[in-house]
Amino acid sequence: MSAIYNFCAGPAMLPQAVMQKAQQELIDWNGLGVSVMEISHRSKEFIAMTQQAEVTLRKLMHIPDNYHVLFMHGGGRAQFSNVVNNFLGDNGQALYLVSGQWSSAAVTEAKKLVSESQIDTINIVEQVDGLNQVILPDLTAIDKDYRYVHYCSNETVDGIEIFEELDSPWPIVADLSSTIMSHHIDVSKYGLIYAGAQKNIGPSGLSIVIVRDDMLTLPSLPQSSIMDYRVAVEHGSMFNTPPTFAWYLASEVFAWLEANGGVSTMADVNQQKAALLYECIDSNPFYKNGVAPHNRSRMNVTFQLVDNSLDVEFLKQAEQAGLVALKGHRIVGGMRASIYNAMPLEGVQALVDFMNNFAIKHS
Ligand code: PMP
Repeated sequence: MSAIYNFCAGPAMLPQAVMQKAQQELIDWNGLGVSVMEISHRSKEFIAMTQQAEVTLRKLMHIPDNYHVLFMHGGGRAQFSNVVNNFLGDNGQALYLVSGQWSSAAVTEAKKLVSESQIDTINIVEQVDGLNQVILPDLTAIDKDYRYVHYCSNETVDGIEIFEELDSPWPIVADLSSTIMSHHIDVSKYGLIYAGAQKNIGPSGLSIVIVRDDMLTLPSLPQSSIMDYRVAVEHGSMFNTPPTFAWYLASEVFAWLEANGGVSTMADVNQQKAALLYECIDSNPFYKNGVAPHNRSRMNVTFQLVDNSLDVEFLKQAEQAGLVALKGHRIVGGMRASIYNAMPLEGVQALVDFMNNFAIKHS
């Protein structure tokens, strides 16, 4: 069978080498004669694996010692409510920067849990010369005592990414679900980072939380123990039975990242992949993209066919060529190529060749 390149936004493709190793180990992990899914999470083998996963993640992201690394349930969305429940317990206020679908969904969730007056929002995307552009507000000029400012640095649906670091007087809480480890970030600038696993980490359902220890002194609301950051810290992310297979696979992805040059190498390749695809879109009048150049996502490249009556045919022919899951999110339509760490440069080259040929055939 010829290569299939999977551009799904999530659950996304995982590194082939990791999938092959997992396949080999599926019924006999670590010489135990059983799979990692069938042993106690309190066994010494499983604990050793989790410790190694944390060590490798800390190395990859240069996570300082005053941060806890948690492996939690519920993917990205669970953290929308966990953040509120853990940090806004005494009528404290938070500021949410809204840049697209996911940051807006975080606001909706937050407003369900506390009174609307506790959640302030600023819309940070404007249309400039017909393109969506992020205009970061001067947060230092705002005279408020927020518990945290929340933002999403890569809007998976809208294809908008924020590369600048926020300059904030309050702790920054960041949803990095679709950009974590795609390029280096300075973790010490954040109060809390979270990410659903199903893009750059592993299977869905798992969420990674990286939280600075002083954040855990903020007042929390009564909440379920499995969603309480303090309980997770106290129990090494094992208050209840964790998603063991997802954790194992994440540890394999971390090891793969480390063996393949780490985050800086990923960042270089990700830049090349995105440049190749945007160059194809920009140089070909058949396609368009509505995001300002410096906010174009390197992970989720959204684009439209100028003649959208050809969308169905484009998707059909792409699939026949082994290029799958290119349909844009149902809310925004068009196309979306998600090109996370596991997508090789050859996959993007194959897509670009296909797009150029499709344009010639249908112009
Ligand atoms: N935040 C972002 C940026 C996302 O892309 C997603 C999922 N696509 C989520 C949050 C929600 O994650 P989950 O489906 O794991 O709850």
